[in-house]
Amino acid sequence: MPEALFPPPSTVWRVALPLPLPRLFDYLPPASQADGDAAVGHRVRVPFGRRELVGVVAEVGAPEYEADPAALKTALGRIDADPLLHGELFDSLRWLARYTHAPLGEVLATALPGPLRHGEPLPDTHAWAWCLTEAGRTDREGLRAGRPRRLADLLQDAPLDEDRLDEALDDWRSAARALAKRGLAERIAVPASAHAPAPRPGPALNEEQQDAVDTVLAADGFVPFLLDGVTGSGKTEVYLHAIADCLARGKQALVLVPEIGLTPQTLARFRARLGVPIHALHSGLSDGERARTWAAFARGEARVAVGTRSAVFLPLLQPGLIVIDEEHDGSFKQQDGIRYHARDFALVRAKALNIPILLGSATPSLESLRNVQAGRYGHLRLQRRAGQAQAPQVRVVDVRKRPIEAGLSPELVDAIAQGLHAGGQVLVFKNRRGYAPVLLCHDCGWTAHCPRCSTPLKGTPMTVHGGGRRLQCHHCGTRRPAPNACPDCGGLALQSQGAGTERIEESLSARFPDYPVRRIDRGTTQRRDALEQHLAEFGTAPGILVGTQMLAKGHDLPNLTLVAVVGIDEGLFSADFRAPEKLAQLLIQVAGRAGRADKLGQVLLQTHHPEHPLLHTLLTGGYAAFAETELAQREAADFPPFAHMALLRAEAQDVDVANAFLAKARRELDAFADPRRRPAPGQRPALEINGPLPAPMPRRAGYQRAQLILTALERRHLHAALDAALPAIYACPEARKVRWSLDVDPIDL
Ligand code: ADP
Ligand code: ZN
Ligand code: ZN
Repeated sequence: MPEALFPPPSTVWRVALPLPLPRLFDYLPPASQADGDAAVGHRVRVPFGRRELVGVVAEVGAPEYEADPAALKTALGRIDADPLLHGELFDSLRWLARYTHAPLGEVLATALPGPLRHGEPLPDTHAWAWCLTEAGRTDREGLRAGRPRRLADLLQDAPLDEDRLDEALDDWRSAARALAKRGLAERIAVPASAHAPAPRPGPALNEEQQDAVDTVLAADGFVPFLLDGVTGSGKTEVYLHAIADCLARGKQALVLVPEIGLTPQTLARFRARLGVPIHALHSGLSDGERARTWAAFARGEARVAVGTRSAVFLPLLQPGLIVIDEEHDGSFKQQDGIRYHARDFALVRAKALNIPILLGSATPSLESLRNVQAGRYGHLRLQRRAGQAQAPQVRVVDVRKRPIEAGLSPELVDAIAQGLHAGGQVLVFKNRRGYAPVLLCHDCGWTAHCPRCSTPLKGTPMTVHGGGRRLQCHHCGTRRPAPNACPDCGGLALQSQGAGTERIEESLSARFPDYPVRRIDRGTTQRRDALEQHLAEFGTAPGILVGTQMLAKGHDLPNLTLVAVVGIDEGLFSADFRAPEKLAQLLIQVAGRAGRADKLGQVLLQTHHPEHPLLHTLLTGGYAAFAETELAQREAADFPPFAHMALLRAEAQDVDVANAFLAKARRELDAFADPRRRPAPGQRPALEINGPLPAPMPRRAGYQRAQLILTALERRHLHAALDAALPAIYACPEARKVRWSLDVDPIDL
């Protein structure tokens, strides 16, 4: 009777492991009492093959996933005394796993900082301080003059944090050791948030700002707001007031900003105004620092986090408010691994936490504007610039049939000269870095293409860099020296075609030798704080900034009076249905940099397409008019936000292999299309599948890339088909031969 000899275990841990398999893994609890009782949310160590993995108990119950209970392995033990993940955060992460159709274990691995993911204990979050002992207080007066005495005097009234001591006394550590040895002082752990500057008041709010703040403060429970305010209208002031109120009620606030918006200035502004420590989370931190911040929130010690995308995974024990600044920004969407959208996940969390959420932008995403239209979000508008600043004047410069040198028309150069002579600063915006986009042989027509990205049908030009000496592919990073002679015809007439930021910089430096010209793009500005440093060094004296969209953000340039936008024409004719939205947002953001203080700003748009409807609508009606038109077009064409998309991507060395996988996936998805939902003639099906199609970049870094596009008018049809088909897609033999990924709500197709 094998059952009696091997009774099926009554309880197993169903563990989420960081593996690309859409399931949990059953383990027997270890026999020892201390390790043996794990609950949902505990981290545990388990054997897996020959490895040892760290996972999280997702369920406790009867075995479900192993076919043969006798083959169950025993877990090695739990890691924490208490579950690390619980409550709202764990529930929301489970939701995210279902929504992205990703394995829970991989979602958890994305959400947790590295050290926690790898099983390290929740780190200490306290700071250290020094204080006098009883004996120290009595004997202080008797100490000889010297450093120990000075330290004892400093500690006379209250303990001091070690960072305070660093500022107050050189080499205080040896003095502290001397006092400690004699039993006069001791080191104590204090909460990390022990001291912070006293809050400083900001400017008095104007009427629009006050209305917005009042509306947010009156919100009870989950209410999403779109704070739709032109650049410089004082949105950040509205956030600060709402957060201050939240702190006064003893609650925590989470602020998400795009990577480029998280500058030391932003943090200093929040710190100074709120008077509490601000926890910053961004890509420049070490894993250890991230884990400490996570722990400070998990313990409920921290009050305010300002962070980029991944800060959306912080635990909030006393939640009060979530703010998403620049909510339209594409950097909130993770583009590899678990493809989540931090704004959308923040909305899910705000709902689960039952708190208000404030989405701010001068150029809101069409998704958010649609939610306003549909009555799902409150709409708060700031239509005037705060303080003295006025909106800039915008003018189109028609360059058809005009001579253009290094990308600049004579009109533009004249305007730049005038701006400089009047004592102002000028920003020249060109969204293409490098010297020139193409290297061309004037004799035979050869152009330099990337060997790893191009196909015979679709060439991918390499960008010219280094003043014409180097070639670089902006898609895969391949570099090579520029040839001296044409590889095809041997001719010497190689020419750089068009202009990137480098060439514009060169040309402007030659034309305006008396003024500083500074280039800001990924070539010059790789380090996190490099942008702020460049802008600080640029100062306020007359001069020219040349750069890419990096320049759309960064700290205020009060003396910037002219913004010249060149080379937006590529964006006007892109195949991507989101291209007009991205271009309009970029133009408004860049234009918004002009005239931020008391100086009137001017914006010049140089184009070959002055009659283009996008430019026309934007210039006559502003972003709101553009968005309205664009939403109507999306609706007519059944594009998001009126339909819901998912993208199944595959890449392989051989295009047939990628396509075979996608064809198999398509058959699985087709099989689950509900026959009762077959569309009547002329109607759209519940789920439309297109592909396998070549990706917009059909070959990149030597890989052939293809995709399936899934579109549904109702989200549930999309998810139902994916839920039904994915197990077979994961399991099929074709899947093992490709790199594949699923992207729900892709932002570029
Ligand atoms: P946004 O976030 O909308 O770009 P900010 O909040 O950064 O705008 O404000 C832009 C500038 O205007 C800042 O220098 C800010 O200090 C100032 N400002 C904001 N609100 C007011 C106000 N009510 N009165 C005077 N100045 C203000
Ligand atoms: Zn040639
Ligand atoms: Zn390439």
